[in-house]
Amino acid sequence: MKKIFFLGECMLELRAIDESTLNQSFAGDVYNSAVYLKRCFNSINSAIVTALGTDAISQKMRHCFVQEQLGTQLVFAHSDKVPGVYYIETDDQGERSFTYWRNDSAARKVIDFYNPTVIDELASGDMLFFSGISLAVIEPDTRAIFWQSIHTLKAAGVKVVFDPNYRARLWQSVEETKQQYALAFQCADITLPGVEDLHALYGVDSVEDVLAHLSDYDINEVVIKNGPESVLTMVDGQLQRHTITPVDNVVDTTSAGDAFNGVYLGARLSGLPVCEAVSKAAKAAAVVIQQPGAITAKAVFNQAMADS
Ligand code: ADP
Repeated sequence: MKKIFFLGECMLELRAIDESTLNQSFAGDVYNSAVYLKRCFNSINSAIVTALGTDAISQKMRHCFVQEQLGTQLVFAHSDKVPGVYYIETDDQGERSFTYWRNDSAARKVIDFYNPTVIDELASGDMLFFSGISLAVIEPDTRAIFWQSIHTLKAAGVKVVFDPNYRARLWQSVEETKQQYALAFQCADITLPGVEDLHALYGVDSVEDVLAHLSDYDINEVVIKNGPESVLTMVDGQLQRHTITPVDNVVDTTSAGDAFNGVYLGARLSGLPVCEAVSKAAKAAAVVIQQPGAITAKAVFNQAMADS
């Protein structure tokens, strides 16, 4: 059975329904990807690597992981931290605003749980995925251990996958981000950047610019996303441009990139060629953006995928 680990943070999502009602769910970029991968490729072991607390919300979150059939062997319980939270409000114009409480979340401590047994388990995987958000979230004084582990895992044959997913507010400075991203690009076997994310950091404006920027690194599989525009891939030295069918009725673009990533990686782990992997990933992303929230209800998602 193929196995992929997703390292990062899952948060409690609170969404205002009306003046006095909040809807609660769970979301976070790596978690979203893990869920959509598992829904499309049930035979792949899709596992989360994170830290929760021992509180009631953490227990509900863990239960949610299990319900989504995700591996939880590396979901740790911190004795005195709790999960991060974010609140989404949509104004009369449909503009969403986000408020976060994540500075002291349990997930920031995930690397403290690393030990030789944990590294052995990670080394049993085919891929390890982390994002720019994962990198920003882990405490800076644990980064050295994190990078050391990445090199150990690469030596053990695990493919390292990186999505830059840049969130400026999570970083101290652009210089700090660029320094960490350079380390990530140096060790990535697969990267799935979005043009918008890298524009803010490197001033790139197109998929071609992103590809040129990444040519400084030795990354075997580059998949560049650009919203409803094309996807550009460079895999084993072969360049391919993939057309995307724009969705007319976009409801909420949250987690479009996450759904794309999860399904793309699931397809590749299943042995599908790049063009089929992109096509399936783009279908999943198109389904997700026609529904509110990061995680589309399972029955709705599965039906839409079957219909598409
Ligand atoms: P990221 O969130 O990583 O920046 P993008 O915004 O580029 O990712 O979107 C990821 C994928 O979602 C795209 O490659 C595309 O397949 C799909 N997508 C995004 N916006 C649209 C849209 N308006 N119509 C159809 N597909 C879309």
